[in-house]
Amino acid sequence: MILIVDDNENNLFSLKRLLQSQDFPVDTASSGEEALTKALKKTYSLIILDVQMPDMDGFEVAETLSGYSKTKEIPIIFLSAVNTDKRFIAKGYASGGIDYVTKPVDPEILMLKVKTFNNLQEQSIALKKNQQSLELEIKGRREMQVSMKSRIDHFHLMLEALPQIAFTLNQNGDVDFVNGKWYQYSDKETEFPETHVDDLNIHEEFERFRKKKKAFELEARIKNLHSGDFRYHLLKMSPVLEGESVKNWVGTFTDIEDQKKVEKEKDEFLSIASHELKTPLTSIKAYIQLLVRKLRLAPECAEAGYLSRTQDQIDKLNNLITDLLDVSKIDNGKLKINRKSGNLESVIQNAIDTIIQTHDHLDLKIDWHGKRPGQTFLFDEVRIEQVIINFLTNAIKYSPKNNQIIISTFADDDEVKVSVTDFGIGIPDFKQDAVFRKFYRVEESSVQFQGMGIGLYICAEIIKQHHGNIGLSSIVGEGSTFYFTLPLN
Ligand code: ADP
Repeated sequence: MILIVDDNENNLFSLKRLLQSQDFPVDTASSGEEALTKALKKTYSLIILDVQMPDMDGFEVAETLSGYSKTKEIPIIFLSAVNTDKRFIAKGYASGGIDYVTKPVDPEILMLKVKTFNNLQEQSIALKKNQQSLELEIKGRREMQVSMKSRIDHFHLMLEALPQIAFTLNQNGDVDFVNGKWYQYSDKETEFPETHVDDLNIHEEFERFRKKKKAFELEARIKNLHSGDFRYHLLKMSPVLEGESVKNWVGTFTDIEDQKKVEKEKDEFLSIASHELKTPLTSIKAYIQLLVRKLRLAPECAEAGYLSRTQDQIDKLNNLITDLLDVSKIDNGKLKINRKSGNLESVIQNAIDTIIQTHDHLDLKIDWHGKRPGQTFLFDEVRIEQVIINFLTNAIKYSPKNNQIIISTFADDDEVKVSVTDFGIGIPDFKQDAVFRKFYRVEESSVQFQGMGIGLYICAEIIKQHHGNIGLSSIVGEGSTFYFTLPLN
């Protein structure tokens, strides 16, 4: 808005009309005092100021305006009829004017000047606004930088306090931060610790998962630079994602050497104990069988009942010991698969018959859905039957309120799939992968149901050796489906 200041009403009126004819918003003041009051209240982009006014002349008004921060930048054009001499013009400029126009005014020239100064002022106001917002942004960024730095320092301090080796990698996979513990295993920040020749190569594994943008973990022995010993560590690496892309990676090595030693000792003990138990148990089993044959007791008499229950318990014990022996065979890489030509249909039928015989006290209902896998292919019948019996035994054990089980079979040109579905207690999502681990039992059910947590571990190994897949889907409270696949070729 432009402010016109003149004590002469006629001048005010004609100047106002002139400016308004060019679409300028205009305000007027008829004295120096009124001009000052208005300029301090409102915002003007230009002031056209008459020099000769009673009380306060134009120069005084301009000087006063230049004393306030709000008004000091407003451009002023002086209008003067009398003081055309250089002295006054110079005074006009000295008191803050940017132009000095003498009366009579040439309207065209005045309009050109008004337009130019008005534009200039508007641009300078816009520039100032930009500058202010830039300053604000710079201030904000500085504050952010300070708080980021303090967060990074905090993060580094935390990493130093960890008992693990901790490190980060940039998106290209180059190590860009390591904590102090790293240097016990590597003398260069950029180089991973040396891995034992028999263990997986950390670099290769990382590259594999880097492409997939997936977290991974592996156990490997890395060399301690001071002692020269290789110690078992659990390496965990996870990508930090920003939308779809990986921003960087964070990783830790946790020393599990002592845990590994204890595990090895426990495995050795179990292996020795189960071997030692197997021999006397086999003798007991044989002598009981001899006794049964010798005594020829009538089936309904009490003694015959005791002997039969003893035999059942011996069978249970025998199964437990056989499972433990299988575990130690897996640990020592000695679980052998004996592939022979056969068909799955008869193996599944045998497993169902065995289960029905051994659970004749339960009113089991086992349905078989899907096409029977009658084709012959190479697999270990005994071991695959063991897997199916394990699935079925679990389906019965973990479904205390339901006696229905569904076996489904499916085959295409490449593989056969066998699934066992129950309607029992189910397994929580986040524990489903773990059930195939050695000695793992779902906590919620471990008190109520007896077991050692090795059946599915053995199953997984058997299927792995057949190059098949094993897995499950389950909903807590609704039931579970365990499945395996076997390749036909
Ligand atoms: P075990 O039954 O002797 O504990 P397994 O290795 O066969 O050992 O099973 C491991 C764990 O998986 C079990 O302890 C149980 O918690 C869970 N599990 C296995 N099968 C089922 C099932 N059909 N329904 C619910 N939980 C199951």
